[in-house]
Amino acid sequence: MPVDLHVHTTASDGSLTPSAVVEAALAVGLRVIAITDHDTTAGVVEATDAARSRGITVLPGVELSVEEPCASDVHVLGLLVDHDDPHLVETLADLRASREARARTMVDMLDEAGHSVDFADVARRAGGGSIGRVHIARALVDSGSVPTVEEAFRLLIGRDAPFHVRKETLSGTRAIAAIHAAGGVAVLAHPGVSGEAALTTLLMAGLDGIEAFHAEHSQRDRQRFAALAERHGLIVTGGSDFHGPGMRSPGIGAGACPDSAVDAVRERARAYRS
Ligand code: MN
Ligand code: MN
Repeated sequence: MPVDLHVHTTASDGSLTPSAVVEAALAVGLRVIAITDHDTTAGVVEATDAARSRGITVLPGVELSVEEPCASDVHVLGLLVDHDDPHLVETLADLRASREARARTMVDMLDEAGHSVDFADVARRAGGGSIGRVHIARALVDSGSVPTVEEAFRLLIGRDAPFHVRKETLSGTRAIAAIHAAGGVAVLAHPGVSGEAALTTLLMAGLDGIEAFHAEHSQRDRQRFAALAERHGLIVTGGSDFHGPGMRSPGIGAGACPDSAVDAVRERARAYRS
């Protein structure tokens, strides 16, 4: 039973709507997907509705960036979170507000340097969802500043580029506490891509799992992270990190997540439900 526990939609920086993501998942025979948009659960309801009586289950989820000393780009997935939990809703709203402020700063800097881009256009591209750098990148492509989204990141807004502004993020402890309080399971996302330097801190904060089966992990990575999870009594999950067509994204369903991950997530989540 193929499953994919890491999928993005237009609620953040994906290019397919939640309904279209469900159709894409059905088309490749997936039986379970988790919607894990950055700093929002806004795609969950639409995806769940689209999945109804179609033989596919949608798990509610979210992807949070966390800030830890000596580690950059650390992402934590919250799987099976209650997307109506008031504390989570408020936490995510704060994170989206700081994303918006950051996007405004970047757009102002770009505009002053002569790159034609305006904030209203960028916000429209985000469609009311989490504003990310990809929305600025698309605006820069359409205004002719750069030929492609990749070039926008490489030359202008990527981590080491001149118009990059850091995103405000939670500490690992706060992120994991928010996930647990919303009844969800906290999983370190793609450690083979962003490193495992934060693991010790995240373990102390109550980390539940490691995404060993990410699409960008080699077979070696997958084995190594599965062994690491076992050593620490953590569950193993996996997913594609699908972002949709035109996004240099792996196909939905990539990552070879074992279907046993779904039961493991459900079982682990029981500890956080009252
Ligand atoms: Mn990520
Ligand atoms: Mn992701």
